[in-house]
Amino acid sequence: MDGQIFDKNSITQTTYKALGIHHLSHIAEIGHLSKEQIHNIRIVGQVFPFRTNRYVLTELINWNKIPNDPIYRLVFPQRAMLEDTEFTRMADLIKLDAPRSEIDDLCREIQCKLNPHPAGQRELNIPTEESGSIDGLQHKYRETALFFPSRGQTCHAYCTFCFRWAQFTGNTDLKISSKDSNAMQTYLAKNKQLTDLLITGGDPMVMKTRVLERYLTPMLHNASLEHIVNIRIGTKALSFWPHRFTDDTDADDLMRLFEKVVQTGRHLAIMAHFNHPRELETDSVRHAIQRIRNTGAVIRTQSPLLNHINNNENIWADLWKQQVKLGLIPYYMFVERDTGARHYFEVPLAKCLEIYQKAIRQVSGLARTVRGPSMSATPGKVEISGIETIGNERVFVLRFLQGRDPSWVGRPFFAKYNPQATWLDHLEPAFKQSSFFFEER
Ligand SMILES: *Cc1c(COP(=O)(O)O)cnc(C)c1O
Ligand code: SF4
Repeated sequence: MDGQIFDKNSITQTTYKALGIHHLSHIAEIGHLSKEQIHNIRIVGQVFPFRTNRYVLTELINWNKIPNDPIYRLVFPQRAMLEDTEFTRMADLIKLDAPRSEIDDLCREIQCKLNPHPAGQRELNIPTEESGSIDGLQHKYRETALFFPSRGQTCHAYCTFCFRWAQFTGNTDLKISSKDSNAMQTYLAKNKQLTDLLITGGDPMVMKTRVLERYLTPMLHNASLEHIVNIRIGTKALSFWPHRFTDDTDADDLMRLFEKVVQTGRHLAIMAHFNHPRELETDSVRHAIQRIRNTGAVIRTQSPLLNHINNNENIWADLWKQQVKLGLIPYYMFVERDTGARHYFEVPLAKCLEIYQKAIRQVSGLARTVRGPSMSATPGKVEISGIETIGNERVFVLRFLQGRDPSWVGRPFFAKYNPQATWLDHLEPAFKQSSFFFEER
């Protein structure tokens, strides 16, 4: 793949080589990683997927600022992502040069403890037809189906906090994806309540244009799919590999494909993932944004709020201001999900709200399209709307932005204030209620 340097499967053989050197022109900076840092990356990189590329290394990471550099932390496995005991166990195996199968067993054991499929992704959201479950499709909210094309289930680089990390660890029975799109189209055709198809991954933008075209083109002129009026593509390629939209060999074809979608009268939304303003600052990303916007596609943005990366209101205000200036529409601020190395990245809900409110107060109305902080939890997307004292009780004010049951959407509800809580399942109903309304039968 273009620009890709290494991934988890090759890390044991090639980490030193890749970090050290061969492909890179900026050996000197990379050399600033200490032996200990490389060792830590190697150990933690067994459990969490690790991949980076030339653009991330040379244009995004500021090597003078590591290890605190936000993009370094976004891409390079960090020591503290593993608990001490697990780190030590893995380090011992590596030191002893243990057989691959033993290392894999330990990886598997650790991964299984890290809630690899949060929010019922696997059990609850995969639609079933008479023939069994439909591979690569999730349908949770009435209007929108998610499609996971099998060729789009990797990314140009991997985020250390990724909530879909289980897909990248070579652990096949943890994966969800689909090879052919026929079953998907049949399902979409039957479900007229759908308006949106969200193509996601991984990152669908790792696919060649002709592969993406194979999925999309048949849909565009299929009369039974006229109700699918919005097509979204979830991607971090603008951040990790903007060349995908500018000078990759099939970048021009991709722009033509986007134009074709728009010409059918549909809304094409690029759901772009940006965690830090740095990702918006290079000439390459600005050029890519311009080209996408010229096709008539709209770029909306989303990101989780992450400890060690963007847990500061000024970073968010800057992120949204830059996005609006560049013509992007801020869409979601997420709470870091309850999976993977959450103990490293999570931020208490109360703090998330504080950051959101302080950031939103600094920007004009054009950036206040962003909603959140929001938890993508099993019952739905739950926004923390406020912290108030009602009667004598301090409470979180919450509401559903999306609900497994559409009638829940927009309905406020209340939880006891808990300054440590980092996820919905840490919250208890306020006002002496025994359950939240959505837990009642
Ligand atoms: C977020 C999400 C969607 C899209 O929700 P919107 O509010 O329309 O952006 C669809 N399906 C799942 C499973 C989601 O998590
Ligand atoms: S780009 Fe998205 S799917 Fe890929 S590693 Fe990052 S968070 Fe995960």
